Amino acid sequence: MVLADLGRKITTALRSLNSATVINEEVLNAMLKEIVTALLEADVNIRLVKGLRENVRAVIDFDEMAAGLNKRRMIQSAVFKELVKLVDPGVKAYQPVKGKSNVIMFVGLQGSGKTTTCTKLAYHYMKKGWKTCLVCADTFRAGAYDQLKQNATKARIPFYGSYTEIDPVIIAQEGVAMFKKEGFEIIIVDTSGRHKQQDSLFEEMLQVSNAVSPDNIIFVMDATIGQACEGQSRAFKDKVNVGSVIITKLDGHAKGGGALSAVAATQSPVIFIGTGEHIDDLEPFKTKPFISKLLGMGDIEGLIEKVNDLGLEDNEELIEKLKHGHFTLRDMYEQFQNIMKMGPFSQIMGMIPGFSQDFLAKGSEKESMARLKRLMTMMDSMNDGELDNRDGAKLFTKQPGRIIRVSCGAGVTEREVRELLTQYTKFAAVVKKMGGIKGLFKGGDMGKNVNPNQMAKLNQQMAKMMDPRVFQQMGGMGGLQNIMRQLQQGAGGLGNMFGGGAGGSAPSGSGGGRR
Ligand code: GDP
Ligand code: MG
Repeated sequence: MVLADLGRKITTALRSLNSATVINEEVLNAMLKEIVTALLEADVNIRLVKGLRENVRAVIDFDEMAAGLNKRRMIQSAVFKELVKLVDPGVKAYQPVKGKSNVIMFVGLQGSGKTTTCTKLAYHYMKKGWKTCLVCADTFRAGAYDQLKQNATKARIPFYGSYTEIDPVIIAQEGVAMFKKEGFEIIIVDTSGRHKQQDSLFEEMLQVSNAVSPDNIIFVMDATIGQACEGQSRAFKDKVNVGSVIITKLDGHAKGGGALSAVAATQSPVIFIGTGEHIDDLEPFKTKPFISKLLGMGDIEGLIEKVNDLGLEDNEELIEKLKHGHFTLRDMYEQFQNIMKMGPFSQIMGMIPGFSQDFLAKGSEKESMARLKRLMTMMDSMNDGELDNRDGAKLFTKQPGRIIRVSCGAGVTEREVRELLTQYTKFAAVVKKMGGIKGLFKGGDMGKNVNPNQMAKLNQQMAKMMDPRVFQQMGGMGGLQNIMRQLQQGAGGLGNMFGGGAGGSAPSGSGGGRR
């Protein structure tokens, strides 16, 4: 993501304050100049950039400032606030309501990523336990229905569409009515786009909107079009009641600044960003965590949310077992399932301060997941007695015949099974000590939420389990300790980051891990 460059440049500018002996007008101006240049290079609208500079300058009045005040801190937090303002229209996004039908309509130009994002969003809600479905009201583009059907089938999401009906309004109406009757909670309507903003497109959009009365209209915007984002989003906003925005293609080479600053034009909140073609490549967008992450401060809130999504509170049985020092192979199997459910490993890593999104190469991530799956396949070949045995590994050492049986069943070598058991024994020891993954996160405020020690242990074990090479890429133990140090600092809240001095999480802090 090219936005990461922007983040690095702004962080460098902010850090220049730390090395200055005296903070005066000159130092401030030099820093602002650097930030302004970086923002303009990232395609952020010039009017907004000017506004940002003026607002920061207005906050800092050197003549009036008392000598004892921490000027560095004030300047840095003013910049942070202004950056947040840049992407925050101050409007709350529509929140779907459980137990009722929420109709969400997608609009946007052809190729912006509507159909792809519809499926991603449906998948997102489905994973969270909502009754979700898709309606294809695009009769303009050849093969549009097939595309949606294929995506939906792969993700097992119910869908509605037609090969014969040519009126999108009728399809939308029928599909939404049917799903409403069946008690679906999230009904997503995909519409057609045109190559350009045409009257005919807007006319059709209005008719579909009138026919299904959506609770929320999501405007999908392609980040790669840069400065053109602003005009485009204005045009859509003028025609229909756009409630939220999703920015797509923020992976690749998009500068992103154009799309992000178009938020000001729509006065609608960005709710998600698309970061790839895969169904999992959709990230909830929240302004403060986004800016924190951009500046290399990590996204602790997002990480906690992911863990909460897993609903580990329900896992009282496991907690109870752990209290008594039991951790079976089946428990490990379930923990693996949780890790897989949390989504791509790199996404999780990207939320940890000091790590960047693109930290793990896609290739090695796939390998890690494949390795985890292989371990699970071996466990699939075990019987209940083995999986639930409280000394899982001992049973196998006492009766080596079991190892042979599992290796045959899973189509792996005996050595691999032995390795799995060794890893399990180590994993169990760590997990027992920390009281389960849930033990990582305690209630209370954000600063106290993450227990860095336990996080370190888990990560260490997870990385080892998944692939020794990945572990090395992470900079081995040194790298991990570094991350944890950063996590500790980051978890203290933004106040710590801007506390002046050398504190905070320099992006360079991830040791040998960064490439
Ligand atoms: P629509 O015409 O608005 O429905 O757009 P599509 O959903 O058909 O997407 C157009 C192209 O953009 C497809 O090739 C998608 O795979 C691709 N695409 C959509 N979202 C993203 C994204 O977040 N990142 C990347 N790299 N590609 C995307
Ligand atoms: Mg489409």
